Amino acid sequence: MQCNPDNVIYMDNNATTRVAPEVVDAMMPFLTDYYGNPSSMHTFGGQVGQAVEQARGSVADLLGADASEVVFTSCGTESDSTAILSALQTYPDKRHIVTTRVEHPAVKSLCENLDNLTGHKHRVTWLKVKADGTLDMEEYKASLSEDTAIVSVMWANNETGVIFPVEEMAKIAKERGILFHTDGVQAVGKIPMNLQETDIDFLSLSGHKLHAPKGVGVLYIAKGTPFIPFLNGGHQEHGRRGGTENVASIIGLGKACDLAAASLTDENTRVRALRDKLEQGLLSSVPKSLLNGHKENRLPNTSNISFEYVEGEAILLHMNQYNICASSGSACTSGSLEPSHVLRAMGVPFTAAHGSIRFSLSVYNTEEDVDFVLEKMPAIIENLRKMSPFWEE
Ligand code: PLP
Repeated sequence: MQCNPDNVIYMDNNATTRVAPEVVDAMMPFLTDYYGNPSSMHTFGGQVGQAVEQARGSVADLLGADASEVVFTSCGTESDSTAILSALQTYPDKRHIVTTRVEHPAVKSLCENLDNLTGHKHRVTWLKVKADGTLDMEEYKASLSEDTAIVSVMWANNETGVIFPVEEMAKIAKERGILFHTDGVQAVGKIPMNLQETDIDFLSLSGHKLHAPKGVGVLYIAKGTPFIPFLNGGHQEHGRRGGTENVASIIGLGKACDLAAASLTDENTRVRALRDKLEQGLLSSVPKSLLNGHKENRLPNTSNISFEYVEGEAILLHMNQYNICASSGSACTSGSLEPSHVLRAMGVPFTAAHGSIRFSLSVYNTEEDVDFVLEKMPAIIENLRKMSPFWEE
């Protein structure tokens, strides 16, 4: 390994999170001694099944849901596909999907494929966002039709952290008899939720975004919601998702949900304060830097900042020299630098979209981390600008 984890300043938690040590401890027995199949009739397997049910209860508690509404999957992407494809199969005569222009590829690519690749069997409305990344509710209401099978809108955006009013949107969908799915991958564990008080039919979450391992997720299916499984097989998950359970990771996810519930206040106070200090410090010390996304209506851990006239990739490389981990809003695809679809949808100017950096914090970040980043960033940007043909003092 080239990079010692002890020296890393990790501010890329919307990409993935550190597995909490308590989560590792909770998982270990199920990777060693307790290897029984939770579906087995014998006590040895049955006790594993009980542990899985306990984990289901922990997930349900964090979501404000009933344990029977929690279905374990392999990841957020699987949960997203399962919800959307289930709705389309449930209502084969309804061919319309409503989503936004700023969804994660897990929803975006699926909807693009449904729109384009299935001989235009399905029609997709891509809701616009305003300059601050928020939605226009009038456009949303007008988009719904008799033909709409499902609305899929993320609870919070992974790049900007902007939070969408999914509870209100689900209510509107319900009044018109339309199923509502939300990709809650970035929101769960960061903001409080009580799903039983909402009209949300489906919610996706992913373990590795909240200090559980990669490769485990959940699809919440509200009681009474019509559902057709994506993976057919054994009777696992009450016939809603075939395949022997990823037991250790499920146990880890249960523990992570307990920890998230306990740290929700910390996330919304201390982590938010750290994020704000970082953000204000960068915006005031680096000229021509600007915040992307609504200032208040945002996840407490996320800050997306554009440094004009420099490339995000170049910034990341320089940050990497100090072991500072973050993400850029542009992706280097096939030799061309394409700014992120989220920033483009918000109309962020070209010169700013290219130089955007997403900082995403977690409960493991400290004031020292923030101070270190604040110390290094101004010189990194200044040096890069000196080399930029577009930059004039
Ligand atoms: N949805 C959102 C908003 C995400 O940020 C991600 C991961 O980055 C996913 C879905 C996909 O989750 P997973 O990696 O578990 O498939």
